[in-house]
Amino acid sequence: MMSSLHENVLRQFNKASDLMGLDANVRKCLATTENEIVIHFHVKFADGRIEVFTGYRVQHNNTLGPYKGGLRYHPKVELDEVRALATWMTWKSALVDIPYGGAKGGIQIDPAQYSQDEIQRITRRFAHDLAPFIGPERDIPAPDVNTTAQMMAWIYDTYKEMGHENCLGVVTGKPLVVGGSAGREKATGQGIVFLIEEWAKDNKLDLAKSTYFLQGFGNVGSWAARIMKRSGAKLLAVEDASGAIACKKGIDAEALRTYADGNKGFIKGFPGTKVITHEEFLATKADIFIPAAMESQITAKTAPLLSVKLVAEGANGPTDTDGDAILTERGIALLPDILCNSGGVVVSYFEWLQNKHSESWDLEDVDAKLKKKLLAAYGRVKDTAAKHKTDWRTASYIEALSRLEDAYKARGFFP
Ligand code: NAD
Repeated sequence: MMSSLHENVLRQFNKASDLMGLDANVRKCLATTENEIVIHFHVKFADGRIEVFTGYRVQHNNTLGPYKGGLRYHPKVELDEVRALATWMTWKSALVDIPYGGAKGGIQIDPAQYSQDEIQRITRRFAHDLAPFIGPERDIPAPDVNTTAQMMAWIYDTYKEMGHENCLGVVTGKPLVVGGSAGREKATGQGIVFLIEEWAKDNKLDLAKSTYFLQGFGNVGSWAARIMKRSGAKLLAVEDASGAIACKKGIDAEALRTYADGNKGFIKGFPGTKVITHEEFLATKADIFIPAAMESQITAKTAPLLSVKLVAEGANGPTDTDGDAILTERGIALLPDILCNSGGVVVSYFEWLQNKHSESWDLEDVDAKLKKKLLAAYGRVKDTAAKHKTDWRTASYIEALSRLEDAYKARGFFP
């Protein structure tokens, strides 16, 4: 039976907690979310019609700092999913050692059905109703699936118009002219590549001669692919919501981005490639698979199909616990989501710092700081995996949970 995404997170959490012997009281606190906000809000469109939408914001934990996490616009957004995604954000921030807690939100909507003007009205109305719960020192949203820098600018503008001063840090992932950071748009993809390069060095894989395939060609996937191109690695197949394509000679990520931009964002029909099925896509023989689309892709059913050395998780939660067990059994290495895709939240943190100090860092500076943070986290996870003789996901959890446990113990429990 399919279990819920949040149950999956709890299984990961319980495995790591048992292995490290996490303090029982800290365990109780971290096993649950702190606040779950559900907002049913109406929007009046230009033609006079009214529609009612459901938006969510789940705040999992703020022991280490303000709640932090993306906003997703997708028809499948619901409370259980947002709860899981919020919880992963707490682990992620703790793992990479940035002063944030975890949150996530979203609206249950298919954005493709609405015009830009309508999306703006929906975003502003949601931001208005969410305003009492967010803020630069309280909870800081960012882009996620189907949300963009433009939408972050609308949220900031709405929040500011409501009378908040000095509030650039209320959202991250903003456009550069509205207090965004150099390198934020590509940050998640860039981080994935820094970590793959490190793993390749450790495992004597020559990236210039390597092959990989990629699921998801949005912000995370397409940036990862464009940056991977510089290493010489060959992209054999890509899948997005429109289907999967493959080419033995390799797919040019830059050309595919340009093509998709002119094709409503979709890769379908890219010249020189053939259409393949989802199963054929997953069975692509390559060195690396980067899932960078949606959750629960690598499961008991699909994990046996994979024929790779490394899974580098760009998406949040692409592998469930059954999938994990099969990957471990088959000797397939894993860069787990809370480590592998943490580049986005790290550069969000840099953006927030720049906003606080009215600074603007250059791209080289941002990239160098990002690399340092990620490689430090990679080193800690590697050492913890060796020390506890465990897989890298569990080791990442142990790292994150240890930091949270120390903070709880140092602060004590307010009665
Ligand atoms: P996006 O909206 O920019 O792109 C999503 C991509 O996934 C699109 O190419 C879409 O066509 C594809 N897709 C959707 N459903 C699919 C399906 N069933 N099969 C195959 N492809 C499918 O979103 P994004 O920001 O790139 O986020 C992708 C993943 O990365 C999500 O799990 C998100 O939570 C995670 N993530 C994003 C960031 C960030 O900074 N944007 C940071 C960390 C993690």
